[in-house]
Parts: sequence; C-alpha cells; structure tokens
Amino acid sequence: MPQLSRRAFAGGLPLGLLGGGLLGGGLSALVAPAASLAAAPKAAGVTPLAQIRVGRFTVTALTDGYADMPYTYFPGRSAAEVEQAATAQFVARPSGVRFVFNQYLIEDGDRKILLDTGPAGSIGQTGALPQALGALGLQRSQIDAVIVTHMHEDHMGGLVAGGQNNYPNAELYIDRRDVIHWTDPAKRNGAPDYLANSFRMSAEVVRLYPRLQAIDGARQIAPGITIVDLTGHTPGHIGVRIEDGGRSLIMVSDMLFPVVHPAATDVGFVFEQDRAAAQAMRQRFFPLAASEGALVAATHMPFPGLGRIVSDRGQLRWQGADWALQT
Ligand SMILES: [Zn+2]
Repeated sequence: MPQLSRRAFAGGLPLGLLGGGLLGGGLSALVAPAASLAAAPKAAGVTPLAQIRVGRFTVTALTDGYADMPYTYFPGRSAAEVEQAATAQFVARPSGVRFVFNQYLIEDGDRKILLDTGPAGSIGQTGALPQALGALGLQRSQIDAVIVTHMHEDHMGGLVAGGQNNYPNAELYIDRRDVIHWTDPAKRNGAPDYLANSFRMSAEVVRLYPRLQAIDGARQIAPGITIVDLTGHTPGHIGVRIEDGGRSLIMVSDMLFPVVHPAATDVGFVFEQDRAAAQAMRQRFFPLAASEGALVAATHMPFPGLGRIVSDRGQLRWQGADWALQT
C-alpha cells in the first residue's frame, strides 16, 4: 500500500461558532435546543452537502441515505458488546448501528468524478443521491466518471435502475478482482442469500456499462486521482486518493465502520468476504493513517464521513474533520 499522505489537509476554521450563551447557560441550555430540534418535524427534501477543497479539487460529500445494521452483524464482538459501545457513544438505536451511505463527488473545474453510487433504495432509507446531485444542479448524465470501490450493493446500486444505465456518459472503474469475483457463477451459486443482490447487480452493471474499465492495482484515473489497493473487505476493495498542492484526501470506503472502529481492528462486519484479510488490512491501515494524520473519507461513518484516525493516549479514535468554513 502506498504512503497515504505526508501532509494531509491542514488549516481551516473550527466549527466552534456556537456562541457564549450556550456555554454559559449550563446543562439545560445545552439540552433544550437539541430537544426542540429533535421534536421538530423533518423538513422534506433537505439534502445534506459538505464540501472541502483539496488543492484544485472540490470534493463534495453526498449521501444516499442510511440503514441500521443489527448489533449481531459485527463478528469479533457479541451483540451486547456492540450495543454497549453504541450506548457509550450515545448512538444506540433499537434497530442497531446506523450506517449512512456517503458518496463523494470530485470536481476540478473540468471533470466530475463520482465515488460510489449508494444502495439506491435496495437497503434501508436510501435513494437520495440523485436529489443530492440535483441540489448541486447536476444530472447523472453530467457525471464523467464513476469509481466503484467494490461491488457490494450499497456502493453500486445506483448504477442501474429498471434495466437502465443511470450514468450514460460516465467511464466506470472497478477493480478487476471484484469484477471477476462478482460475475463468477460458481461464486454466485455458493453465496449466502444476503449477497444475492450484489451478484445480480454486478451482472447488470457489466452488461449495461460497456465502458467499464477493470483496473489492476494502483492506477492514476486522472491527474491527482489515484487508486489505492485496500483488499480485504472484498477481493478488489479499493480506495481513492485525491492529491494536489500538498494536500490530500483518501476515500477508504469500507475500511472502517461506526461505533466499532477504529478503536479495535479485530471486530469485523458480516459482509466481509475474507475476515482475516479485512482485519489484516485494518491492522496496517489504522496506525499508518494515524501516524500520517491522513484526511480520510469513509462511506459509513457519520455524514459527511470526513475525518482522521487519531491516537489518543494509545487508543485509536475517529476525529471528525473541520470541513466547513474553510478558507
Ligand atoms: Zn459498504
């Protein structure tokens, strides 16, 4: 695996713009606004967007929605242990650990490259990506390239709908090992039911995207945009490194999951193809990302999924990035 980044994004304004009244008002002042927000009806059609700059690139985090993963889905820990960790982080829900589905749009003033396309309604409360693109004034037909980090339905579901190619003008890049794995009839026949959707969609994607390019290892997709091999979660699980002007961001897809990571590397996720390989990759990646201070984008971390793995008194933890109000 190549070095992540010598110097990740530095600078920007902190988000501490809450004002003195909140800090001076005691606990009730902290709780009251949150409680009234929680009680407010959900505004229909609100689409969260978060943008950061990486040199000449603008990277926009978009989300397709969310799904809750049962506490039993994390091998290496009992359901009770995962729920306890979620409770300690104040994110426990009766239905499990909330996974969001973040996608990232990279723009350099010329090309528009999308990283992953979300489950598009095949899982949970999803299907919002077209609306999120619309909030940027974009149609799917304006996307020049899509990089799919691996062929699980929650990362490529949006590529197809009703037998149609949803990104008709896009080059499509997927690691060759995943293309081979997910289009192998023997693998499909021997797979558990919960992977059936991913196999079915993979066949459709290959059929509907004649411009699919199977990629091998580290490869530059465009100047400043490079594939990083993060095999483990699936055979061809990849990351995407964006780098310009001494700044960089690495989109690592399913390298880490909320609640359980990065505090531990020996806890996995039920969808992992090769548990040992996935764990080995986490063991390599987490400390490396922490030592380099790499700015990371992770699909399932709380929106916008931008942050860093930091070492805090010997424990690794996730630190959300200051993505807003950057100059
Ligand atoms: Zn995923």
